[in-house]
Amino acid sequence: MKVYQWIDRCWVSAFPPRCVVCHAPGSEGLSVCRDCLADLPWHVPGCRVCGDALPGTTMRAEAVAQKNHVCGRCLRTPPGFDQVTAALAFATPVDGWVRRFKYSGTLYLGRLLSELFLLRCVPAIPDLIVPVPLHRDRLKLRGFNQSAELASVMARRLGVPLVQDLLVRAQAGVPQSTLLARDRRRAMRGVFQVKRPLDRARVALVDDVLTTGATASACARALKHAGAAEVRVWVISRA
Ligand SMILES: [Zn+2]
Ligand SMILES: [Zn+2]
Repeated sequence: MKVYQWIDRCWVSAFPPRCVVCHAPGSEGLSVCRDCLADLPWHVPGCRVCGDALPGTTMRAEAVAQKNHVCGRCLRTPPGFDQVTAALAFATPVDGWVRRFKYSGTLYLGRLLSELFLLRCVPAIPDLIVPVPLHRDRLKLRGFNQSAELASVMARRLGVPLVQDLLVRAQAGVPQSTLLARDRRRAMRGVFQVKRPLDRARVALVDDVLTTGATASACARALKHAGAAEVRVWVISRA
């Protein structure tokens, strides 16, 4: 057992976690109880590529996932990444946890969100874990990169190297929601740079929330351009 796992276990047995929703004892070593865990807005798998819900298929989610359906949007314009794995939908209480973690620096919620991802999703083990980077001005303002915090929990748990200085955001963001998909792609061109070649590496790209997928797609394109064989996107929540 590694030292940090031992410390972790001692900590949990000395201070058993309490549910962040109802304060009942936590379940699975998490700060969410069994009932609240079952009530979380878990993401229903849809499109094999982007994870988006497929119209009229919510009742047969498992069957849809098995059939490898791809949505019309991914068929028309394949994104830069190979697949999205999402744990939760961006709904109550997850949306509030993400905001408190991101904007108020409530780091234990970030850790909880990463643990929920690992509890729900069993992703194929990649060669590298890379967080979606923030522009340095934004990083200075916020004090931390939320994606890097999430990625570091995942990397430690899975025993996969976390590489934080590989992918950089060279330009500050543009407001995505006001743009059409085609303009979004154009606006994202050259925003991300990869600092060294990737020798056919399989990369897991970590982010907190996937909305349009334009950012993840632009990161994935940059990583593939640098030689990545595969880019899978791991997100806590699918908006
Ligand atoms: Zn609870
Ligand atoms: Zn899709």
